[in-house]
Amino acid sequence: MSEKSKYSFQCLEQQCDTKACHIRPNIRVTIGDLARWTTQGYLMNILPGIDLGVPQAEDEWFYLEAHRKPLKSDAETTACIFYNEEANGCEIRYSRPISCRTYPLAYDGEKFYVLTKDCPGVGKGEISKEALKDLRDLAEQDYRERMETDSALPAIYSVFMAQMVRQSAQAMSRMSEEDRKKMEELLSKERQNGETDESQQGQD
Ligand code: SF4
Repeated sequence: MSEKSKYSFQCLEQQCDTKACHIRPNIRVTIGDLARWTTQGYLMNILPGIDLGVPQAEDEWFYLEAHRKPLKSDAETTACIFYNEEANGCEIRYSRPISCRTYPLAYDGEKFYVLTKDCPGVGKGEISKEALKDLRDLAEQDYRERMETDSALPAIYSVFMAQMVRQSAQAMSRMSEEDRKKMEELLSKERQNGETDESQQGQD
């Protein structure tokens, strides 16, 4: 008879009325998730619902997360784009992001912890030591993948940006003198508009 663990969790699935996992902030996605969805052939279904966060300040990071939408039942609250409010469930249950599969258990590189007390499944049911080991392994994998994503995304972004700059330079070099002048005028107008918008935002 396998021993029972102190931590217990049982997801209430569609009987859950808190939606805690679906409305939680920052539903992170990892590069590992992208790789799994590619291998499984789901990437093109899921990719439109994934946002790339680009740092706007020095202390900010690049990140990947599920896009959000307002709840029909409460427009003040936003939920994950993959949350089906009518069915009270996940539309990509067949391959959820690792952060959802390990929720509400998490790992910070040193210890395991429960992300939130809002999830009514915490403390419900019983989990064998073996099942808990699987959950902990998944939480550790989630942690490793988040660290890998945090360190790889800036480099991946820079590679894409460098490629785009090279390609636009090549495109400009193939343009006629007249077209290049037109393009430069357009770009400088765009820059001016951008600066005007920024200064306007600064005054607001
Ligand atoms: S991916 Fe699915 S389980 Fe995860 S937050 Fe979105 S709707 Fe919920």
